[in-house]
Amino acid sequence: MPVVAIVGRPNVGKSTLFNRIFGRRKALVEDFPGVTRDRNYAEVTRFERPFTLIDTGGFEPQSQERLLQQMREQSQLAIEEADLIVFLLDVQQGLTPADQEVAAMLRRVDKPVLFAINKVDGERQEQAAAEFYALGVEELFTVSAEHGLGINDLVANILDRLPSAPGPAAAEEVTRIAVIGRPNVGKSSLVNRLLGFERVVANPVAGTTRDSIDTAFVYNRKPYLLIDTAGIRRKGKVSQKLEKFSVVQALKALERAHVVIMVIDAVEGVTEQDLTVAGYAHEQGRALMLVVNKWDAVEKDNQTLGRFVEDIRINFKFLPYAPILFVSALTGQRVAKIMAEIEKVAAEYNRQVTTGELNKALEMAVTAHPPAMHQGRRLKIFYATQVGVRPPSFMIFVSKAEGFHFSYERYLTNKIREAFGFQGTPIRLIFRDRE
Ligand code: GDP
Ligand code: GDP
Repeated sequence: MPVVAIVGRPNVGKSTLFNRIFGRRKALVEDFPGVTRDRNYAEVTRFERPFTLIDTGGFEPQSQERLLQQMREQSQLAIEEADLIVFLLDVQQGLTPADQEVAAMLRRVDKPVLFAINKVDGERQEQAAAEFYALGVEELFTVSAEHGLGINDLVANILDRLPSAPGPAAAEEVTRIAVIGRPNVGKSSLVNRLLGFERVVANPVAGTTRDSIDTAFVYNRKPYLLIDTAGIRRKGKVSQKLEKFSVVQALKALERAHVVIMVIDAVEGVTEQDLTVAGYAHEQGRALMLVVNKWDAVEKDNQTLGRFVEDIRINFKFLPYAPILFVSALTGQRVAKIMAEIEKVAAEYNRQVTTGELNKALEMAVTAHPPAMHQGRRLKIFYATQVGVRPPSFMIFVSKAEGFHFSYERYLTNKIREAFGFQGTPIRLIFRDRE
């Protein structure tokens, strides 16, 4: 969802304009410790195109110097986060040097900026508003946030200038899958099963390599590309060198992949190399699922599966989100489940949650367990917004980003997962200073 930010000095009417565009008074969140009371974001859904509205205000600066500093920071934030900026000025206060400076800053930005003059309640102010052309802008919007004048025109221009919505083309973008794992775990066999045909291997001689082969296919009417790294064929013992080569291949495939299928040999179990490669996938922000192959070759009693899962969870403790599947490429058992799982994981990898839902989840998390003190002051979380997918990434605006400890980040990550799932995908939290 595109983001629209309202920037301007205190008392120009940002909050009033925010409510006007939002359509009702902005809700006050209950008095949660660590969360500011004023909600300064809202999802505006009553026009043709929904957008997130941010009121960057909410502070009471003491001195002129401090004011200018805050306006710079506020504008910087808007410049970074917003798709469109509304710079709000006040006809009663007139044009000030601070406005001049911010306007100069905004003019250099490669994003649409609308200059709106507020408190134009009548004809007299309309004339006075002309003074703002001194800012060197071509177009001014005059509004009265309080009386609802000029708002429709301003909103129409906001809607017009928002970046075009991601069309179906983006939604249909191919999901790239990499099948990785040590030599001989059954990658080729699985790929052949997945694609539903036996691929002829060019040269199945011990130690011969072939480049990875990409295969495009469609599943449930969605396009996929399979990056096959089953580059190494061998019979007998694997040399050190080949093992290393398979890691290099896996890392290359990861770079291009969205979803990684990490194949583990049920007979040989998890190896150090599997952990290294999976760790790399996690760091690179790839979705990942664990597929335990050769399940047919394991002697089982009714505790085998449970023990295996436990063992894998302990080994891959940095990947608590990865689904685990037990399959046999040889017999085909449960291989069909793989694509169904990939489809789910890919959806989670691309998933966007609304700012409202996200902040509700965070508020609950903060209430249950507020952030710690930092340099004698309680750390605050203002609000968060999802800034990306593949993997889902969240920017959290806080009072002091450097004060947030890794353990609290993990706590919030867990709470976000509890609220939304995000099965199979890593998620990222980015802490940003605000205030
Ligand atoms: P913010 O600090 O920029 O968020 O400003 P507020 O929205 O809190 O408004 C500051 C003051 O300006 C309040 O007393 C509002 O009632 C007043 N105000 C806001 N919009 C208008 C307007 O269109 N006309 C007039 N006359 N006053 C307004
Ligand atoms: P890759 O090197 O990872 O591509 O592994 P391959 O697909 O070439 O398989 C290596 C060996 O394991 C071959 O002899 C396969 O027949 C065998 N294999 C693959 N999948 C299974 C399975 O599910 N069960 C059993 N028992 N053997 C398998």
